[in-house]
Amino acid sequence: MKNSKNLRKWLDDMNLSHPLLIAGPCSAETENQVLDIAHQLKDSDTIVYRAGIWKPRTRPGNFEGVGSLALQWMKKAKKETGILTTTEVANANHVDLALKNEIDILWIGARTTVSPFIVQEIAEALRGTEKIILIKNPVNPDLSLWLGAIERFFSSNIKNIGAIHRGFSTYEKTKYRNNPEWQIAIDLQRRLPDLPLILDPSHIAGRRDLIFDLCQTALDLNYDGLMIESHNDPDNAWSDAKQQITPEKLKELTKNLTIRRVTNDDEAYLDNLDNLRAQINVHDNQLINILGNRMKVAEKIGLLKKKNNVAVLQSKRWNEILGKMILEGDEKNLSEEFILKVFKAIHQESINHQEKILKN
Ligand code: PEP
Ligand code: MN
Repeated sequence: MKNSKNLRKWLDDMNLSHPLLIAGPCSAETENQVLDIAHQLKDSDTIVYRAGIWKPRTRPGNFEGVGSLALQWMKKAKKETGILTTTEVANANHVDLALKNEIDILWIGARTTVSPFIVQEIAEALRGTEKIILIKNPVNPDLSLWLGAIERFFSSNIKNIGAIHRGFSTYEKTKYRNNPEWQIAIDLQRRLPDLPLILDPSHIAGRRDLIFDLCQTALDLNYDGLMIESHNDPDNAWSDAKQQITPEKLKELTKNLTIRRVTNDDEAYLDNLDNLRAQINVHDNQLINILGNRMKVAEKIGLLKKKNNVAVLQSKRWNEILGKMILEGDEKNLSEEFILKVFKAIHQESINHQEKILKN
């Protein structure tokens, strides 16, 4: 994946003092609505105007977008405001229409990224394009699917690729519409450090009051851009009404974000950082040692259970450990969510070690 430097160069060349901002309604509804919002965004940081034209809805019967009719409205919005345009494409026909109508940037939706057949079809339709293609994460928390989609576009000789992090669906209800699972996006960044990464806080949040915080977290994690749904009359939007914000609110939000530097070459800062990082390294080594020792004890328990023909999983004991650790974690200011994740992983590793012994 040697090409991922291309879009980064476009971003660097713009020399923005803020993250790349993509804003606009969830869906294009009417010509007036598209133009009104675009004009209201004109004096914001918005570089790219978004609007869904073909809407993938989870269940039938909801508003499915106005279709190709809106391509003219987008063209007009760009002509009148000078803001670039983007829309979601979900098949080769959408690609064809979007390209013919001068849409600048195409994005691949979360429900498309899950399907290698459709991703391949779209990548073929775009082969060799100079356009910017932004690939949303798949709906399910699966880094390989996200990477796979990105690879299919790179393999079609498409150079300007970026990723959009829009969160992942979970069966468990959380305060978010789609759980951010920041770690997955951080893993993607680690594997493709040159690939620009954009946060879509609107589809993560599902409600407008959570958007600011998500944006700030993204900037703290060095994201390159934000894609935020903005509507002139959010409460009456034809789709995603609860998560959209007015252009006015958007301007206020971006003004209040703290933009962090990628790094700082001040010597005192670097010394301090080195020192703190050395401390972190010591703790990380301790963690590995402690975990290794814990597993050795688990193996001894495995042997004991084997001799006495006792099952590996002891639910009562496991629940007791979890309950106790959540309380102790709380005293150290560690969230329940974190403790659950860590201890479930430790427990699974213990079971694996014990299983190996029982099966020997
Ligand atoms: C959207 O951006 O309006 C959209 C449908 O997004 P996603 O594919 O993330 O659900
Ligand atoms: Mn939406």
